[in-house]
Amino acid sequence: MIENPRPEADRLARIIEIECHCAGRAPFCGTWTHSEFSPILRAVTVYSHSRINCFSNCPKQFSYRYIEKIKVDTEGVEAFVGKRVHEILERLYHHLQRHSQPPSLAQVQERFRKDFALRWHKKIKIVREENDQDFYIAHGLRCLENYYRGHYPFDRGETVAIEARIPIQLDDGGRYRAQGIIDRLVRTRDGEYEVHDYKTSAALPPKSRMENDHQLPLYQVGVQQAYPDADHVKLVWHYLAVDKTIVRERTPVQLSDMRKLLMEKIDTIEAATEFKARPSPLCNWCDYNSICPDRKGGPKLEEPPPPGDTDAPSALSSSMSADDAEQLSLL
Ligand code: SF4
Repeated sequence: MIENPRPEADRLARIIEIECHCAGRAPFCGTWTHSEFSPILRAVTVYSHSRINCFSNCPKQFSYRYIEKIKVDTEGVEAFVGKRVHEILERLYHHLQRHSQPPSLAQVQERFRKDFALRWHKKIKIVREENDQDFYIAHGLRCLENYYRGHYPFDRGETVAIEARIPIQLDDGGRYRAQGIIDRLVRTRDGEYEVHDYKTSAALPPKSRMENDHQLPLYQVGVQQAYPDADHVKLVWHYLAVDKTIVRERTPVQLSDMRKLLMEKIDTIEAATEFKARPSPLCNWCDYNSICPDRKGGPKLEEPPPPGDTDAPSALSSSMSADDAEQLSLL
């Protein structure tokens, strides 16, 4: 379990998130004027990779989700499958910690089938109408089988944390704060740390996107802040559906550059006074497309996603949202 070094700040952040719905735009916020409130809000807002990404992809979507906090009861099927796969792998490693013996592949897959059926609900949205529920069950089973066969008997390295929330400070003063959820943190026999992340996308992302991805490097910053012995950290992406594992390392200079870039992005978000729509083919997967007047009618789904796109339209994705659900958002 990773300890949060600043529990009081986290508590404040939660309170402010709950009590402030206007994010600095309303003249009053409860009994506080915003001129009094804003500095505190700015000091404690905790960012996630997906929160920052959401603003970059479509500021209007950011506004719906984080400022207006509009609740949605629909759920994309890709996110649904990703969550179920993550839960099963989390359960697998907890089982290993308790029993030192892995369950069989048949047991793992049976559990997935049961959970899938149990959690399925009427508001799950299948954008690609040519696919039915069985298609997505088969996809999840394939992800699990590939991972199981590739890692059995799961004895490589010590599992330090599973689905662990980690606080991250981007600057030395604690002004720019973030958090992430690490799917699995491993310490190898050589004393190296590995940040593992499961992706259920149907295809690998473009190489350029891999090299510029900030999610796991951001988590590396948090790991090195939480574990003083984490001098060497590897970043490991498991693209389960295509059975590919990608391992990368980031230099201290790369991490420093990334921190600066993310702080600039946070400054941009906090200075924003309008949140313009950025319609794209991803509108098909947006939680707010039923209420967004700027939604793109859009190119046919068969068309390839735009360059640098996320795991989305052509794929199943379980990347990111910060908040736990966010970690699984498509965007
Ligand atoms: S539907 Fe499209 S334009 Fe509208 S908020 Fe969603 S992503 Fe942005």
